Amino acid sequence: MPAKTFYIETFGCQMNAHDSEKVIGTLLAEGYQQVETPEAAHLVLYNTCSIRDKAEQKVFSRLQQFKRDAGKGKLFGVLGCVAQQEGEKIFDRAPHVSLVAGSASYTRLPELLVQLETGHRRVTGLSLDTDETFDTPFTRRDNPYRAYLTIIEGCDKSCAYCVVPFTRGPERSRTSESVMAEARRLADQGYTEIQLLGQNVNSYRDPSPAGWDFAALLGRIAEIPGLRRVRYTTSHPRDFVKAIVDAMDASPVLCDHVHLPVQSGSDRTLAAMDRLYTRAQYLERIEWLKNARRRYSITSDIIVGFPGETEDDFEQTLDLLDTVQYDSLFSFKYSPRPNTAALALPNRVTEDEQQRRLAILQEKQRAIQIRLNAAMVGNIEEVMVEGRNHATAQWIGRTSSNRTLNFSDPRTEGLNGQYVQVRVTRSGPNSLVGESVTVV
Ligand code: SF4
Repeated sequence: MPAKTFYIETFGCQMNAHDSEKVIGTLLAEGYQQVETPEAAHLVLYNTCSIRDKAEQKVFSRLQQFKRDAGKGKLFGVLGCVAQQEGEKIFDRAPHVSLVAGSASYTRLPELLVQLETGHRRVTGLSLDTDETFDTPFTRRDNPYRAYLTIIEGCDKSCAYCVVPFTRGPERSRTSESVMAEARRLADQGYTEIQLLGQNVNSYRDPSPAGWDFAALLGRIAEIPGLRRVRYTTSHPRDFVKAIVDAMDASPVLCDHVHLPVQSGSDRTLAAMDRLYTRAQYLERIEWLKNARRRYSITSDIIVGFPGETEDDFEQTLDLLDTVQYDSLFSFKYSPRPNTAALALPNRVTEDEQQRRLAILQEKQRAIQIRLNAAMVGNIEEVMVEGRNHATAQWIGRTSSNRTLNFSDPRTEGLNGQYVQVRVTRSGPNSLVGESVTVV
């Protein structure tokens, strides 16, 4: 097991996936070599997620598998949200772990690696007291066609169910200059699609004298030569302003999709969640999108079974689905998380009742998606080709509205990263099927 080899496994969201791309880039720049299995690695890293209890438990079951390797020269490190949340307790729970570092400490990775290499065995990076963002020239990107680009880290909100403010710290926006420079570099490297990332991208505020807000940044990035698509996630309804919709209407490079997490359709539950908007304020944003010049696909997140959620609250959430008609939805059962205000709330909803509500909600959303996707049959959609499904001999494309469109084309190679016009011939609840018409 060569000394400077590492293995990394990533759990959770796109922010974590992109953080891992930067962690990998930093390790490669420090002379490490990446290997494909933990068995083959000298340094085994887990970049973790703690958004729900199930996610958190995954890393500890991984570590358990290697308990027998303790003291045999193999090093283990826990990164990301569980690292920040649990801190040094991880050393007690898994004594073979030598490194625990949260995402706000990644700029110190080279220094932490030196501590590891010089024999330190309880190395930590756990400070949240930073105004730094993890800007690094060393990023090893997984996807050759779509590039992640973080514009803001952390979150200043305090939604009652959410661990993020405790695991990623306060909001820190990158300067517009550093964001624009990275976006231009990506375009120069041949990327045609960029996905802007942040826990709450809408509250982006350029710390430099330019002082751009999110709408201004969107408009400027869309002007960069070579870029054909710009996406962004995640938004917060409180900070989602009309100027963002106007910026999107003004530039077709900004994709036809907005992910606007609502979490509940009930004002009582939204207040208990401390979401800082009402149902009416949320629907006003939806109206902006529905009355815009272009047709935007709208997706969201919903939590069912939040403490105190009554049958009537849940009915209001179901009614919101009828009102908005989401193109797709991520839905979850409430999961109690450490440090969050909701832990202290009374009237827990039972696991069975949570499951019943989730099933009803997902069935309702499934019917909406079947109807909306069926209405797309016959349309000609432009997709960016992301890969090929050899089993079905179909290409996998993604529309600007963020739908998966699997399509047939006489060519069997050379389409990845290309833009293809596809006629939709069939539809299902979660994807579309089609045949190519031209190459553009
Ligand atoms: S806005 Fe709320 S849900 Fe989103 S990351 Fe911040 S605290 Fe969590």
